[in-house]
Amino acid sequence: RAHLDAVEALNPTLNAYITVTAEQALTQAAEADAVRARGEAGLLCGAPVAIKDLFCTEGVRTTAASRILSNFVPPYESTVTAQMKRDGAVSLGKTNLDEFAMGSSNMTSAFGAVQNPWRRRGDDSPLVPGGSSGGSASAVAARIALAATGTDTGGSIRQPASFCGIAGIKPTYGRCSRWGTVAFASSLDQAGPLARTVEDCAILLRSMAGFDPKDSTSVDVAVPDFRAAVGRSVKGMRIGIPAEYRAPGMPEEIERWWQQGIAWLRDAGCEIVDVSLPHTRYGLATYYIVAPAECSSNLARYDGVRFGERVEADSLDALYERSRAAGFGDEVKRRILIGTYVLSSGYYDAYYLKAQKVRSLILRDFTEAFGRVDALLTPTAPSAAFGLGEKMSDPVTMYLNDIFTVPASMAGVPGMSVPVGLDSAGLPLGLQLIGRPFDEETLFALGSALE
Ligand code: GLN
Repeated sequence: RAHLDAVEALNPTLNAYITVTAEQALTQAAEADAVRARGEAGLLCGAPVAIKDLFCTEGVRTTAASRILSNFVPPYESTVTAQMKRDGAVSLGKTNLDEFAMGSSNMTSAFGAVQNPWRRRGDDSPLVPGGSSGGSASAVAARIALAATGTDTGGSIRQPASFCGIAGIKPTYGRCSRWGTVAFASSLDQAGPLARTVEDCAILLRSMAGFDPKDSTSVDVAVPDFRAAVGRSVKGMRIGIPAEYRAPGMPEEIERWWQQGIAWLRDAGCEIVDVSLPHTRYGLATYYIVAPAECSSNLARYDGVRFGERVEADSLDALYERSRAAGFGDEVKRRILIGTYVLSSGYYDAYYLKAQKVRSLILRDFTEAFGRVDALLTPTAPSAAFGLGEKMSDPVTMYLNDIFTVPASMAGVPGMSVPVGLDSAGLPLGLQLIGRPFDEETLFALGSALE
């Protein structure tokens, strides 16, 4: 009830939730009480959480922040949210995001932009929460959800976590089932938690993760008790500092917080090792070929017939065209155009195939680095939260914000953003830990040492 009251008070300004499921939340909370009274409380029993509106929820509208899905009520529940329900989570509602998770600011949502609860010192102009999981990050930071789910294709958990001063982890590709999550770029999409602390992320991920035969890319490995890794000694761990994680124009204070993070880990007994990931500089360019290519294919299903709002027309072709013209926003259309272009015959080899080859080189960089170190430490993003409305006129400037997060996505390795401090304007900054495949435990141990 307290959370719902807070949602009611703050959401009109923040716009973090697209749909609030107050009644359902109260029913689930009452059930959680009963379960607890029977002594059968699960991992998340009674925890009031928010769900990114990209996870299908049975009987609850799921929009992907797109006009084309504005009336879609799924008849099924995503595996990730079903597992959270099984463990007793209480869902407060569905959170806002960039349309189909395409963006870094939450400004491309058909349901309006989300505000970051933080402000620059002495300046009340609204800031973005980051994206695409901006609604989830804003809700957690504003204390109108205890924790939230996100998805991360190229940084959508880590970057908003950094902008909002909270923790978030993109697990290894294959750790969480993608079944029932609206697809953006299938070879990159991963679900993960956003929460106030590293420990809360560990608790949530335990519930969200696990093999699912319904997702052919889900990996059949045991889900460890991530929470046990929180607070574990990091003494003797080798931490790689990749020289390439510096962006032109990156504020000096991000570099300073990075050095501070290095100092903290050294104090905790880690050995700091300089490493090089030479193909990092191709990360963004290849990501913005692979992700649009896969999105153009995944979004073909929204044609007004199989899925999506229909705009009637005289012919079937016109019906497709009008439905898609009316249903998708500009950024989604831009990605579909790029994606169909790079997949078209004649260009496929030059763009898509080449990008896939470079992707292998990016992965090889990480594999080689992990032969020498246990994890990498980098900044999460090249800036703090920027102003609402900024960077919208030039898509490439917006894409540059993903420069430090896309390499781990391309390689499928886990990445976590940990809030470490504030910049001189009083805005939160995060550092990113990148780990070996399926070694999220090392990230939880290191993350709690940095917190
Ligand atoms: N900002 C990146 C993009 O626009 C990543 C988004 C995401 O991870 N879903 O594609």
